Amino acid sequence: MTIHKNLIAGEWIGTEGVENINPSNTNDVVGVYARACAEDAKSAIAAAKAAFPAWSHSGILQRHAILKKTADEILARKDELGKLLAREEGKTLPEAIAETIRAAQIFDFFAGEVLRLSGEVLPSVRPNIGVEITREPIGVVGIITPWNFPIAIPAWKVAPALAYGNTVVFKPAELVPGCSWAIADILHRAGLPNGVLNLVIGKGSVVGQAMLNSPDLAAITFTGSTTTGKRVAATSIEHNRKFQLEMGGKNPMVVLDDADLTLAVEAAANSGFFSTGQRCTASSRLIVTEGIHDKFVAALTEKLKGLVVDDALKAGTHIGPVVDANQLKQDTDYITIGRSEGAKLAFGGETISRDNPGFYLQPTLFTEATNQMRISREEIFGPVASVIRVKDYEEALSVANDTPFGLSAGIATTSLKHATHFKRHSEAGMVMVNLPTAGVDFHVPFGGRKASSFGPREQGKYASEFYTVVKTAYVLA
Ligand code: ADP
Repeated sequence: MTIHKNLIAGEWIGTEGVENINPSNTNDVVGVYARACAEDAKSAIAAAKAAFPAWSHSGILQRHAILKKTADEILARKDELGKLLAREEGKTLPEAIAETIRAAQIFDFFAGEVLRLSGEVLPSVRPNIGVEITREPIGVVGIITPWNFPIAIPAWKVAPALAYGNTVVFKPAELVPGCSWAIADILHRAGLPNGVLNLVIGKGSVVGQAMLNSPDLAAITFTGSTTTGKRVAATSIEHNRKFQLEMGGKNPMVVLDDADLTLAVEAAANSGFFSTGQRCTASSRLIVTEGIHDKFVAALTEKLKGLVVDDALKAGTHIGPVVDANQLKQDTDYITIGRSEGAKLAFGGETISRDNPGFYLQPTLFTEATNQMRISREEIFGPVASVIRVKDYEEALSVANDTPFGLSAGIATTSLKHATHFKRHSEAGMVMVNLPTAGVDFHVPFGGRKASSFGPREQGKYASEFYTVVKTAYVLA
């Protein structure tokens, strides 16, 4: 098999590769991808540094054209890239194609943002002086991404980084290098000058760590675990570097007595279990008031019975496999923990076999969980959710907010009063009313509070807060 190489200073580099394995069928090798070492990371950073002066002053039409061309190619190849994504990550083909379209939309959005760059001109408090406020690129941006959105997360970091005139060293998750390689290849062929985007596929502990240790990265944007996020933060402070973190979630979905039951069940099934529950915005705590509790549990269990867990590429599959053996172990360990903590297993809980060898797990629902159990406090990152029974809205809100995390929170209710109160008092970065906690737009801010996130929001025009630095110029008239 040909090796998909790393891109450093415009050259495709790498002699040895590692197989990218399909979690739906571990006999299926998606491709062979080069593994960068710490030296490669250093070369990539040097290349990005060398490319920065020219790219940061490049014409906006050049940047617009490259990003637009990239968006157009991703969209034109949505079926092929979607299939690659489903094969390497395990989400279903429709989910994977939708994510690919999302990546195209993000590149398209930032192609537009390049043409909308602006500043402010103000009078000084002193006579005959003008003040100009502009946003400038920061420098070399390090991008470190996780495996659960192999094309959308790289797109929502790479596109704004380039749009605002930065150069990039990009390390995707080693489990899913295929989509990131495709993005680098498309940008390279779209005319991105050498060194502006450098791709280094490799281990977090080696390549990622080499990036964190470098004094030449002006900023790092990271999505992944809380443990690695803390490492990014500590090293960034040491190097006086800007950083942005998107980490875990333990997202609540409140269901009140007056909720539309069908809608609540659909939202819980969607955000709890689709994409195999491997979304940082997944609803893993279903906080349900007494009056609707039993009906909700019965209807959700019925819904889960009808969900097909199978090969991500098979038509009719609702839930694909877990991403790999390690994640599957983490999920099943938490199922054991939930049982030993006294939660009741209402559905699922078992690994299952399919035609091909893969990491299949039943959607798993616990009931009678308390908010103090580990399964309610720690992120599982699998198709596992727990129902927590509460007395009324006030208790539901208090339980929803009683978590170290604060990414997304949802409420299902027909009460305007409670919906409005929840919107105001939820301690999450994103609040969903009568909608799943997962599923967001690309043109508005994405991010959380507490242990979920740190730094400026991602996506939409708010992305400029991270990818630019403000300059204030005083001019004597
Ligand atoms: P997950 O549990 O989602 O895999 P990680 O934080 O381990 O979360 O991984 C997210 C990204 O961070 C991946 O690209 C991974 O390779 C990278 N990473 C892991 N460890 C480090 C590290 N020590 N330094 C930098 N990046 C790392």
